[in-house]
Amino acid sequence: MIIRDVGYYWLVFLAFILGRYFLVAGGAFWLFCSKSKLPFLTQTISQSRQWRLIRQDIALSVLSAFLFALLAALIMSAYNAGGTRLYSSIGEYGWGYLGFSFCAILLLQDTYFYFTHRLLHHPRFFKSIHQGHHRSRVPTPWTSFAFELSEALIHGIFFVGLVWLMPLHFVTLIAVFTTMTLWAIATHLGFELVPPNGPLPWLQQGLIGPIHHGIHHRQHQVHFGLYFTFWDRVFGTTDPAYLEKYAVKKGQ
Ligand SMILES: [Zn+2]
Ligand SMILES: [Zn+2]
Repeated sequence: MIIRDVGYYWLVFLAFILGRYFLVAGGAFWLFCSKSKLPFLTQTISQSRQWRLIRQDIALSVLSAFLFALLAALIMSAYNAGGTRLYSSIGEYGWGYLGFSFCAILLLQDTYFYFTHRLLHHPRFFKSIHQGHHRSRVPTPWTSFAFELSEALIHGIFFVGLVWLMPLHFVTLIAVFTTMTLWAIATHLGFELVPPNGPLPWLQQGLIGPIHHGIHHRQHQVHFGLYFTFWDRVFGTTDPAYLEKYAVKKGQ
């Protein structure tokens, strides 16, 4: 019964995760990286090599989708068996907790990502776990979910632990996954969308955008955060020329 449950959910989540990836990453690539804007056209590597990197990114993302779907299926099966702290009635903890838990997950995930990401850049782990995500020096939306299976497990296990530790409504989880997907696509655009002289520069400097993460893809030893620049500031892992690069919208 449980195995049948897991198999069913696995297929459903796999279809959903793959559909979401091709729709959102493909849509962003088509929309923002059209021929005239293709950031990689200005790079030194040939177009054929860039397309090869994109194919590799897609292959890794599809592979990761199998693992993410399996973890999601295990969570759902455990929920059906009463083994998680997921809940479905908003009245149980109220609207305030819904907002609080959403913000708390983003902060926790950002912290977890920063420290595991730094560890993955240690020479001992980089090649076997994280190099797959770094094949593209100039990322594209296709790079957003390109992880080796071992790295996908590190990211996915965070949510597996979370649903056992913290009461979470399904709406909160869906909101977090939507935010994570859109953020990952945006930070892998390879060029900045938001003008640096926007109305809220303090907010822009506190959030990680395409130039911030694009620098990480080239320099490796700076910019390890996911959503916020907080931990990079605290631990001095911000590129000293970041604001300059952001201000001139170069990021290359
Ligand atoms: Zn990346
Ligand atoms: Zn990295």
